[in-house]
Amino acid sequence: MIKSIKDVNVKNKTVLVRVDYNLPYDTRGNIADDRRIRASLGTIAYLIEQRAKVVLMTHSGRPGGKIIPALSLEPAAARLSGLLKKEVVFVGECIGPKAEAAVTKANFGDVILLENLRFHAEETMNGMAFAKQLASLADLYVNESFATSHRAHASNTGICAFLPGVAGLTLLNELRAVSRALEDPAKPVVAVLGGAKVSDKIEIIQNLIDKADSMILGGGIANTFIKAKGYNTGASLVDSGHILFAGEMIELAGKKGKKLMLPVDFICGDAIENPTKVVLAADGSIPSDMAVYDVGPLSAELFAAEILQAGTVIFNGPPGVFEHAPYESGTRTVANALASSKAYTFAGGGDSAAAIEKFGCSSAISYISTGGGASLECLKGATLPGVEVLLRSDT
Ligand code: AMP
Repeated sequence: MIKSIKDVNVKNKTVLVRVDYNLPYDTRGNIADDRRIRASLGTIAYLIEQRAKVVLMTHSGRPGGKIIPALSLEPAAARLSGLLKKEVVFVGECIGPKAEAAVTKANFGDVILLENLRFHAEETMNGMAFAKQLASLADLYVNESFATSHRAHASNTGICAFLPGVAGLTLLNELRAVSRALEDPAKPVVAVLGGAKVSDKIEIIQNLIDKADSMILGGGIANTFIKAKGYNTGASLVDSGHILFAGEMIELAGKKGKKLMLPVDFICGDAIENPTKVVLAADGSIPSDMAVYDVGPLSAELFAAEILQAGTVIFNGPPGVFEHAPYESGTRTVANALASSKAYTFAGGGDSAAAIEKFGCSSAISYISTGGGASLECLKGATLPGVEVLLRSDT
């Protein structure tokens, strides 16, 4: 089992924490959303309280190994300082003499934020010399960044060759939430999958067809399955390279005794933006010059009923183009069902969180994962490299 900061002695230790402060900035260079900083406050506060020397490291944007002043972490240090109501020392380097001197000078209970890791190309290349230099700053490594744990980079993978590593509280929370949905779920398990393309979701469909008792398909994904069943899909988005795969999944679900639910009615339009014609069509009657952009009201009600009898619901991808009013009602019904369900409801990846937020349902969902790509990997059944190294770490 993975160890966390609460399972090891951090008192009077220098602790190097990989956080995720890859923040959105507005056109004036101000932080537009500081939720990622807020998410790390629990771990930082615990380490301060334990009198650890807290050294934070993160990437910001994609500077590609070059120093890009607009991607400096200095504004994040100021925001963190405001939230902690405590000085945060910003260091304009993440390795080398400047960083070493700042760490040496700091007292236990102090907080330091290092400059953007990706100003060094070795970070994303998992360069071992770079990882060793980072590791030389501390006694213990903490991974607090679930969102980057699906990548094997120097600051979350290579570093474990030189330092013992444990999980931060946010990472631990994320892993527990995923495990509750996938490893030991309350039955029955209902997977609600939507979004644009089957090709993005192949491994998720394959994994969840095993783990779930029923699978609800909406969005562009459903079109490809409808096509595989031999129905006309008009001008809808269809993954023509995956029609065969969709047919195989329909057959596999049947063999395994799993319920695979597809829409039975469809909202079709002549365009996504400013459509001049929007119609409701039943199975087999999708107009040839129109595309499906949402599930119809009957489908949405059937999906909601399935969600309401679940013990666990895994939501990945909206059932319609919810960003546009004519095509939002299917996603609204599903989001409301998730919110009123007594099940453990887990949402992760893609636009799932945005869809839930749009319909004001966020607070009623059991867990909304913060890591897009990382939660997709978990739904595929993959082990994240940044987590695997912690499992093997000798603490
Ligand atoms: P994903 O990131 O895979 O979850 O995909 C989310 C995107 O899928 C959203 O931006 C939706 O607008 C889009 N989407 C949902 N349903 C459809 C559909 N029927 N046709 C095209 N795009 C869709």
